[in-house]
Amino acid sequence: MENSDNTNSNAVRILIVDDHPNTAAMLARVLGKFDVPVEVLTACSAEEALELTNGKLVDVLITDFMMSGMNGLDLIEKLKGENQPIHTILITAYDTPGLRISAKQLKVNDYLVKPVQPEKIREIVGRVLVEIRPQLTEVASSSSAQRSFRILVADDNPDNVRLLSVRLHSEGYEYLTAMDGQETLDRIRSDNPDLVLLDVNMPKKDGFEVLLEMRADQKISHIPVIVVTAARIAAKDVREGLTLGADDYVTKPVDWRELSARIRTKLRVKQAEDELRNRTRELGVLPELSKDLGERLDVEELTRTILTRSISALSAMNGYLVIFHPDGSITQQMHKIFDISPWTWEELRNQFTSEGIIPQLINQREGVILDDVNESENWVSIPNDTTRSAILIPLLGRRDVLGVLSLTHEQPGFFKPDHLKLLQAISSQAAIAVENAQLFAIERKRVNELVALNQLTHQISQFTHSNELFDQIPEIVRNHLGYPTVVLWLKDNAGIKLHKMAGEENAPRQSLMEIAPIQAGTTGQAAQISGAIDERTGDRFGTGKPPIISSIAVPLVWQGKVNGVISIHSQRSSAFQESDRVMLETLSSQIGIVVERIGLFESVEQEQKRTTAVLRTAADAILVLNSSGELQLINPAGEHLFTDVRTKVGFPLPSKKGYDGLTELVDKARATGTLEKGEILWPDQRTFSVLIAPIEEGGQVAVLHDVSHFMAINRLKNEFIATATHDLKNPIFAVLGYSDLLTKVGTLNEMQTDFIRRIKSSALQMQDLVLNLLEMARIEMETDLKKGRVDLRTLLAEIGDEFQNQAQLKNHILLTELPEDPIFVLGDRMRLQQVVRNLLGNAIKYTPNGGKIQLKGWVVNEKVKVEIQDNGFGIPEDALPHIFEKFYRVYSEATQDIEGNGLGLAIVKSIIDQHGGHITVESVAGQGSCFSFILKLDPDSIPN
Ligand code: ADP
Repeated sequence: MENSDNTNSNAVRILIVDDHPNTAAMLARVLGKFDVPVEVLTACSAEEALELTNGKLVDVLITDFMMSGMNGLDLIEKLKGENQPIHTILITAYDTPGLRISAKQLKVNDYLVKPVQPEKIREIVGRVLVEIRPQLTEVASSSSAQRSFRILVADDNPDNVRLLSVRLHSEGYEYLTAMDGQETLDRIRSDNPDLVLLDVNMPKKDGFEVLLEMRADQKISHIPVIVVTAARIAAKDVREGLTLGADDYVTKPVDWRELSARIRTKLRVKQAEDELRNRTRELGVLPELSKDLGERLDVEELTRTILTRSISALSAMNGYLVIFHPDGSITQQMHKIFDISPWTWEELRNQFTSEGIIPQLINQREGVILDDVNESENWVSIPNDTTRSAILIPLLGRRDVLGVLSLTHEQPGFFKPDHLKLLQAISSQAAIAVENAQLFAIERKRVNELVALNQLTHQISQFTHSNELFDQIPEIVRNHLGYPTVVLWLKDNAGIKLHKMAGEENAPRQSLMEIAPIQAGTTGQAAQISGAIDERTGDRFGTGKPPIISSIAVPLVWQGKVNGVISIHSQRSSAFQESDRVMLETLSSQIGIVVERIGLFESVEQEQKRTTAVLRTAADAILVLNSSGELQLINPAGEHLFTDVRTKVGFPLPSKKGYDGLTELVDKARATGTLEKGEILWPDQRTFSVLIAPIEEGGQVAVLHDVSHFMAINRLKNEFIATATHDLKNPIFAVLGYSDLLTKVGTLNEMQTDFIRRIKSSALQMQDLVLNLLEMARIEMETDLKKGRVDLRTLLAEIGDEFQNQAQLKNHILLTELPEDPIFVLGDRMRLQQVVRNLLGNAIKYTPNGGKIQLKGWVVNEKVKVEIQDNGFGIPEDALPHIFEKFYRVYSEATQDIEGNGLGLAIVKSIIDQHGGHITVESVAGQGSCFSFILKLDPDSIPN
């Protein structure tokens, strides 16, 4: 029956009221032992109970109903209000509905009917304890963790100190001592004890001063203090001590049993409070951590934060975090950097990631606590590291282990299972943050890559020669995309050959580099290798570690076949990812496009060079004019043409400088949009045969061929013909004259008469030929016509009349159809007469007897059109194109006896051409022919 007076503010107070003292004692025994501190009070009557609890709070009330004096319900009623217990149990021997209802009204928690098993009550109270002091029960259940407490004994009396120290030691506590107030405070601050036994009367500072300072200092204010006072202490002092924050007090001489009980109680509470404080701090870590980590997308910064946060959450001394990135790179972070020589940080990373506890953790995917790293075979000890215990946890990503977090402490066994739970929570948050940061990094990398690719594409598209492109592409790619080594391979009949490499300093041996490109070159597919290459050939076989390489090779395709390979290389394994291959493939297709474009460009350029060469060496002058008549291009021969004026590209041809013949022809060609030919006389008296052809895009090309030479020959020829024919003319006239005279000077026999007729006929033919030849030569030699105003209507009418007789001889009907008004043209009357005579003569000649011949003339569109139509033999289709050529005659059975020399139509055409007119023929063999020509009217004769 622990009816002790002491005030234990943390103990749960249980009051048992029963008028059977044995029952109360029995219950008190059953309820006196819980893990939680409880204070059990017993009373034999309600009145005694009220006296006992006067002013004191009762947590649990267990009362019998039937008692002498006040009954249980009345007691419950009396305790209502401020002093109402948290939990009330009413026990009765008689269960009546009325009682039940009253109990209910009074909010009795448990209504038990006798006989009641004490275990039942214990069970109820146990449950209640958990409810009202959850933290205590939890502490109690975990307090079995054998932690040793440190107690500071502050007393200026060495005897007291020794006595207490011995006692404390025998109870398994660690202890510290202090002999005065100041030392007490110093030790509290430096050693952070779990409890202080504080003597009031001490030199330098008395106990109350120490207490006052302790409570004011946040770092040590939580440490419980039991004030040890002199036996006759004034109530005032007790009050003062308690007001100042003493947790308890005992009087001297100290009853060790009592002090020990109180120390135990205080320490339990302290431990519970510590745990609570830790838990609160730990719980605070997570939301803060998630906020902190969520804000960080930079992996470096993130790893630092994770490390710092977890170290402070677990009060660890140091920590190491390693993160494996998807691109194969590794980030490592050490919280407190110390001298690890002779190791380097890279060595440390390699050690940690290749062997020992970290790879083990990656496999297990579970955290681990190492109480003493010296006893763990897997622990990799870093030089100069003072670590004794460690806690490690893997960071689990959605697919892979992202990394490992390791926290260390110099104290063995520092980390507890609870730490592991907390670290698990931290690591899962950290894993999410790391994964996000990695995703972000990938995303950012991708964006950067796209930007780089864009710039790169722009740069390579500037090339105009494939050789330059091939030479520079590796360096450009390396600059933009930052690959360690970039190689361009070109394919010829023998296979893939290294053309150009950038980043040679990072390159593996060529035999290793070739592997992927050869594969890509032969298959036409991207090839990727990563990791150790098992070389089965060469001197390396069997010696040392196999070399490590990462390569991606992508074929370069243009004009439908693989022409090369572009490849990237690194001497690390897994240096490249899928995205790099995609990148390289995009690049390869861009290169293909550029090369094809360059090919076009080069062929155009070659074409241009050829054209330029042709133009430069051509003897003919070649001029290209645009649609507005401005000169676009002129070859050297063309430049020589314009001797006195400068012809400038971009300007029209010079006018009024004697080149107007050319400009007129150009204008004509532009107006008609067709090909124009002509001969023009140049100011320097040269003659050019000019061809003006339209260009599809608009404008024209003019080709001027110097025909002065031919003209000279032609002139010579014509002069010769003229002289010769002129000289022949007179003897022929003589022959004709004498053959006429012969018949008159005497009688001739029949045979003589026939001979003379034959002589005359031949002479006439010769005369005809000679006259025609002479005429032809004259026409061709005459560059300027003797032009005058000619009335074509009258001219036609007269010639029509002139030929009537001739027509009648062959029984033809010759019809003339002419307008009444005169038709004036500017021309050479004699020559125009000759045109009509030749045409009308042919019509009569080449129409069998009894034919019909029509001569028509009329005005249309400021022009006159003349038509001579017959229904004679006609001209076969194949002869039509040649009909105006000199000496051309059609030979057919019907016309073979008709005499002629094939010059008539040639003369006609020459005259019409010289008049700026145009002659055409339509004819169907056996049906007849129609010759027609057009001449411009005399402009003066046109009314307005
Ligand atoms: P020719 O002295 O032979 O008549 P031309 O130059 O006048 O020479 O005529 C050339 C040829 O054209 C003639 O030989 C003839 O075959 C053909 N020819 C000319 N006019 C006619 C026509 N009206 N009908 C049929 N054939 C014609």
